[in-house]
Formats: sequence, structure tokens, C-alpha cells
Amino acid sequence: MRIAPSPTGLLHVGTARAALYNWLFARKNNGKFILRIEDTDIVRSSKEMLTSILDGLSWLGIDWDEGPFFQSERLEIYKKYADKIYEGGKAYYCYCTPEELAERRERAKREKRDLKYDRNCLGLSEEEKMKLEDEKRPKALRFLVPEGETSFQDIIHGQVKKSNEEIEDFIIMKSDGTPTYNLAVVVDDFKMGITHTIRGDDHIPNTPKQVLLYKALNLTPPKFAHLPLILGEDKSKLSKRHGAISVTQYRDEGFLPEALFNFLVLLGWSPGDDREIMSKEEILKSFSLERISKTAAVFDVEKLEWMNGVYINKLSDEKLLDMVTPSLLEKGWVDRDFLEKKREFLVSIVSLLKKRMRRLNDFVRYSSYFFNDVEEYENKGVKKHFKEDTPDHIKALKKRLEKQDDFSQENLESIFRDLAEELDIKPSRLIHPVRLAVTGETVGPGLFEILEIIGKNCVIKRLTKTIEYIKLINNEKNGAIV
Ligand code: GLU
Repeated sequence: MRIAPSPTGLLHVGTARAALYNWLFARKNNGKFILRIEDTDIVRSSKEMLTSILDGLSWLGIDWDEGPFFQSERLEIYKKYADKIYEGGKAYYCYCTPEELAERRERAKREKRDLKYDRNCLGLSEEEKMKLEDEKRPKALRFLVPEGETSFQDIIHGQVKKSNEEIEDFIIMKSDGTPTYNLAVVVDDFKMGITHTIRGDDHIPNTPKQVLLYKALNLTPPKFAHLPLILGEDKSKLSKRHGAISVTQYRDEGFLPEALFNFLVLLGWSPGDDREIMSKEEILKSFSLERISKTAAVFDVEKLEWMNGVYINKLSDEKLLDMVTPSLLEKGWVDRDFLEKKREFLVSIVSLLKKRMRRLNDFVRYSSYFFNDVEEYENKGVKKHFKEDTPDHIKALKKRLEKQDDFSQENLESIFRDLAEELDIKPSRLIHPVRLAVTGETVGPGLFEILEIIGKNCVIKRLTKTIEYIKLINNEKNGAIV
């Protein structure tokens, strides 16, 4: 088994899913999983993309037994096999220039003729060839597609057949001496002992060509399994337009590798029951190529977020704190000293916010008011909860809180309820404005838990500030009326 990404883009989730299926199949069958980097297109390949591939696979927990092998370092091997095909009379040199090819294709298009390569160079006489050689015309090696039909048995799609009439004499060695994908993949899958070639079904059109090459070289092809496409939510092929499409982007956006692993496995495969949250071990136990579906799978980001939330909630508070600490440091909300001395405070925030988190970066999104003063109150909350009589209510509450030594959520709750009763108002008329005063927001986790964590001094300070603020806006309002 192998994964053979080209380092011309970041590690795409589709490639990652193919890697996962290959990896699972190898681990299940005591096979080997090989990483091969298909970098023969030197211009489009880059180090940065290679890093994304290696980091992305490792981060997902996909380890490889051999490799990475680089095709760019194996050019001589492909040349040897290309020569073998040529010497067997199953390939011929083509001297046509790209301009000539384009022009003839255009003409064929206009005349509604077959667009396949017209075998112009197959019929060249020895003399003509010599002349072109003397001119030092660049030449590519084309495979001579025989007559007949080519078929292969696909584990997922069943039998796939193609008439050779529909396959043009494809290039196997380019004029710069590098192999094309179809040749290199055949040589490598053979040399590396690949028994199962599992890849995206966008490669189905290539497979008959590869089967022809195996035949020409007298080799037995591996078994093939072509995986269904991954679509965006609008049912078109998943692309950058849909947002993040690379594994490293998901990592950077606060997803856990276990969640993405679980999610990707279920894109096109199911265990045969309705289990969704599955550990690596459970997946390994149930995995089989036969249960991969033929139809395209839709990448549902919301489901991924839900799943990520489930995995976040499986983490201990301590572990989760360690994972969000870098973002707190980056924001400058804490420093090393704070981290050490206020660990308990931090753990209690994590414990409170964990249930609401879908991504790791939700933590900084939800926790700002634990680390920073409230500078702004949510507008719609101000209109709804900061009323004429609110400053009096908050003042009364502040007075009680100032006397408290016990700032536990239980005690706070009974103080709020008692005071509401005395003021003859609903407890919500205290709770909502206080939430807004202390957090700046109208929704969030339980208020009494928040107050307990933030602590008496800070709560009182924020209430004082709010009393002034409401007075100010009330004055402005009244002024405007007059
Ligand atoms: N380099 C090819 C790709 O990234 C590999 C296809 C294959 O697995 O054969 O699509």
C-alpha cells in the first residue's frame, strides 16, 4: 500500500483520506505502507508543499513504513523501463512540437474529427527520423496503444472496461527526459511491491493506460480501488472555493487530529452500523475496502465541528489547558509567571468553557472577559437589559456582594434570588444586566460560575463601571427627550 502525493499543493483532505484508507488497509493486513513523493514536475513542486504533506500525515497519526521516496531521484529507473518498452517495439519517438500538436488538434476540432494524437511520427521513415535527429529536435516517447479493449477489476466499482480506440498514444517519457505520471506510477508500484493501489476515482481514466503498460512490460498489475470524490456542500468538487481544503489548515484552525481522522474515514466509508464517534482502534477493527461507497461524499464542515467538539470534551481540563496555552500567550493575556501561579484559575475557565468549544481557538473567542476588562457591552443587550432602574438594582446587589466572604456559585445564587424577592423583581432582571456588566455579552455559560471564577474584587469593579455607564446613557436619553 502507498500514498503518492505530488508536492504541488498542500496536503489535500482527499489525499489524506486516501492515505488513511491505505494506511488502515496496510495495518489491518500486516502490510507495508509506503510514502512516495511524485515530484517529477520539478517546476511545480516545492519544499513548502512537501513539508505540508509530511507534517499533515504525521499530525494525523499516519506513519509510514518506508520512504519518503522521491521520484525525482529515480529518473534512471524509469528510463530503463521506457527503453525496455521502446526496444520491444511498443513505443515510438514523437518529434512533434507543442505548436504543431496544438494546431492539428484545433483543425481536428473544427472538422469534428477525433482529437487523439494522429500518429504522425509513427509513420516516419528512417531518413525523416535522421533529419529530425540532426536538427536536434526534442523528442518524446509515445506508447503505441494496441488494438482491443482494456479492462480491470476495481474493488469498489467492479469491472471497468475501455476500448483502446478511445486511448491515444500517450507520452511515457517527456522530451526533457522525465517520465510522465503513468509510466512512473507503474514502474514504482511494481518495484515497490504494491499489491493494492488505492486512490481517488479521478484516476480511473488513467488506470487503463497503466494496465496497458503493465502488459507491455509483462508485469501483473496490482489490485485497484478507486475512492469516491469528495464534494463541497454545494455538491461540486471540493476546492479552495469551499474554504480550507488542506490538513494543515484544519490543524491551524483548531481541529484535533483524532477528530479529523475519524471524520475523514467516514467520508465514503461506514462501519455498517450507525456508529460515528470511533477511536482509531475501533476503526481498524471494522475497516474494509468493500464497505467504501461508490458515490461521492459531501464534506460537511458542521459535522466536522460537532465531531471536533466531542473530541475536545473527551480531553481532561488539564490537557486542554496545555493545548490552548499557546494562544493565550500569543494574545498576551497571560505570561509564564501567570501560567504557573494561576493554574487553578485557568483550569476552572477551561472546565467551564469546554462544553461550548468546537475548535481549540474558540477558547480565546469565549474567554476574553476572564483576562481583560470589559470595554464594550453588546448593543442589543444594552437596549434590552440596561433600564432606568437597573443602576439601583445593581447598587443593591453590589452592597450585598461587598459583604461576602463566600463567593461560591451556590452562595451567589441565593444572594441573587433573595435580593430579587426583596426588590419584587424576577431574578432574570438581575441576572441579565449583571451578565452584560461582567462579560459584555448577553449569552454564555452559567453566570454564577463565571462570577465565582472572576472573583469578588473584579466583579465589584465591573459592576461599579456599569452603574456609571447606565447613568450616563440614561442622562443622554433624557436629555434627548427634553
Ligand atoms: N501523484 C498522484 C496524485 O497526487 C498519485 C496518484 C496515484 O495514487 O496513483 O494524484
